[in-house]
Amino acid sequence: MYLADFISFKFLEGPVIYPNDTLFPSLIIDQNIRVNYTPTVLVYAIDNKDVQKAVKCVVELKRDIVPRSGGHSYEKYGLSGRDNVFVLDLTFVNSITINSEMKTAKIGAGNRLGNVYNQLNQAGFLIPAGLCPSVGIGGHALGGGFGYYSRKYGLACNNIISMEVVDGKGNILHVDSNTNSDLYFALKGAGGGSYGIVTYFVFRIHPTPPQVTYMELAFN
Ligand SMILES: Cc1cc2nc3c(=O)[nH]c(=O)nc-3n(C[C@H](O)[C@H](O)[C@H](O)COP(=O)(O)OP(=O)(O)OC[C@H]3O[C@@H](n4cnc5c(N)ncnc54)[C@H](O)[C@@H]3O)c2cc1C
Repeated sequence: MYLADFISFKFLEGPVIYPNDTLFPSLIIDQNIRVNYTPTVLVYAIDNKDVQKAVKCVVELKRDIVPRSGGHSYEKYGLSGRDNVFVLDLTFVNSITINSEMKTAKIGAGNRLGNVYNQLNQAGFLIPAGLCPSVGIGGHALGGGFGYYSRKYGLACNNIISMEVVDGKGNILHVDSNTNSDLYFALKGAGGGSYGIVTYFVFRIHPTPPQVTYMELAFN
């Protein structure tokens, strides 16, 4: 397979954006605008099958691929922090399925925290995670994820029950405390852009309290 075949990406369901596409410049502006990097191509996956296909292709081409969820890495690691890489964007892996009885939610890694909070709140639940609504749950939960509820319920990563992960060979793995347990341990807190591409998380969810008090203290 040649690079040109890969770039045509006809076998993927999600959109593929090339540097000559008019949308391309706006899609590579992440949260940190002080530095920028230009990927070879932006591939948008819609599910773990798409992620699997993309990874298998890149393995064959001996190229690197970097996952991006919300693009809020301070160092711009969602674009890998360098030029000419294949970026796999998970924005469209954004389903949320809540199981109120089991107090769990299956959350696509491409969701932003604001959407997660809104949907969980409508069902009377929350997860402990960060403050900024546009941060991606993918990079956030894999790096820890600290927020207002962390004193009570821990970091976001402490509430991950299981994950679906595409590994470096393109295998889709179920990961929890019993299956692939080393990977489960490693991904929870040190996982962003390292041991595999997480497509879905199952989180333990907590009832939203009837009332909360928010205080902001400023020290001058
Ligand atoms: C404005 C702002 C506010 C913030 N507030 C908080 C806060 O309140 N609490 C807190 O704890 N942190 C906070 N952060 C830090 C934030 O949680 C991290 O920067 C986080 O990594 C962003 O995740 P992302 O998916 O948006 O970023 P990306 O740039 O998309 O990804 C970050 C890293 O994770 C990797 N990655 C992304 N998705 C996946 C995936 N699905 N599978 C494997 N690897 C993946 C990327 O390759 C990259 O290395 C904040 C950051 C910003 C910019």
